[in-house]
Amino acid sequence: MEQVLTVVCKLNPTPKQSEEIELVLKAFADACNHANQQVKPQITSKTTIQNMVYKDLRALFGLSANLAVRACARVGANRKTAKQKDQQVLTFKPTSADYDARIFSFREKDWTVSLTLMNGREHIKIDAGNYQRGKLKGGKPTSAQLCKHRDGNYYIHIQIKEVATALIKSNNVIGVDFGRRDIAVTSNGDKWDGQQINDVRDKFFRVRSSLQKKATKGTRSTRRRARKILQRLSGSERRFQQWLNHKISKSIIQDALKIDAVVAIENLTGIRERTNQQPRNKTERRRSNSWSFYQLRSFLEYKGIQFGVEVIAVPPAYTSQTCHCCLHIGLRSDKRFKCGNCGWSGDADLNGAKNIAALGAAFVNQPGGTNRLYCNLSTDSSGLLKA
Ligand SMILES: [Zn+2]
Repeated sequence: MEQVLTVVCKLNPTPKQSEEIELVLKAFADACNHANQQVKPQITSKTTIQNMVYKDLRALFGLSANLAVRACARVGANRKTAKQKDQQVLTFKPTSADYDARIFSFREKDWTVSLTLMNGREHIKIDAGNYQRGKLKGGKPTSAQLCKHRDGNYYIHIQIKEVATALIKSNNVIGVDFGRRDIAVTSNGDKWDGQQINDVRDKFFRVRSSLQKKATKGTRSTRRRARKILQRLSGSERRFQQWLNHKISKSIIQDALKIDAVVAIENLTGIRERTNQQPRNKTERRRSNSWSFYQLRSFLEYKGIQFGVEVIAVPPAYTSQTCHCCLHIGLRSDKRFKCGNCGWSGDADLNGAKNIAALGAAFVNQPGGTNRLYCNLSTDSSGLLKA
């Protein structure tokens, strides 16, 4: 099995190269917008789009042959995604351009990438930390995206194909329960609870609400300052969440590796509705609603593929109400679970995680294993893997 990983590196262009990059981003977006306006909205095939507007794109916007091809492909791809969501592609912003092997290459000896810009090829130095160097070493990446981030700097998102380790076959299962009160609880009893994490998140929330007030009610300059801080804050909160999701998923996958286990998680469809069931107070609903479980799940999945740990999704019905010892419906009050049949009582999320593990084991042991679920991984514009 193969998976695509995106490595993001900051570019260090000369002032002259920065100007060229701006021009390419502008021309690429203009070309996409032109194609989007000229070609009937229901057409999503990149080949059809290319047949209709390729010549225009080259003539009107001065794009190189392959950039024009990539622009057509971008319009097609965005239209397909929009169609799935019942939306239409409106405009393209001059913040990114796609590159393939003909117009992009990576050179390890001096850590540069070469990109075709408006006036030919340019070698641009990249900043690569240990992580990026480790991933890029010896690699021959064949596609990339040139991006301008919100910080105003230019980045290159390089796609690397990794061959995944063969999956370990095993009957051990670690069940993971997501997000009622704690972010994650495993059937081994590990948990990422709430207190410390919630403290950090509540602080973000308090600061945010107070700033939001200021951003609408204060004087003009206060409003402007408040908006600025809010923007910065949204970044640091997102990074905190991402950092923690990485940490949680890494730890779970490593535990699974140690005991050759499969990881079972709940199928997340409808997690918001389920975790929102009464009785829960407003604060708790806010906490679980604002956590990115989809991100956590996709991190688990791609780390699983990397290390050869299988991640399976089981249907979530009853995992929180059933007693894991005797399978009777028990009583759940707040954080405790109590079984009226066998008398087991304990942490409700641990009970849930054990049920998920049991369901997972049932799947794993099924002959043929046809119920094993895999998720297609794709990347979003920021280069994050998403399920
Ligand atoms: Zn019981």
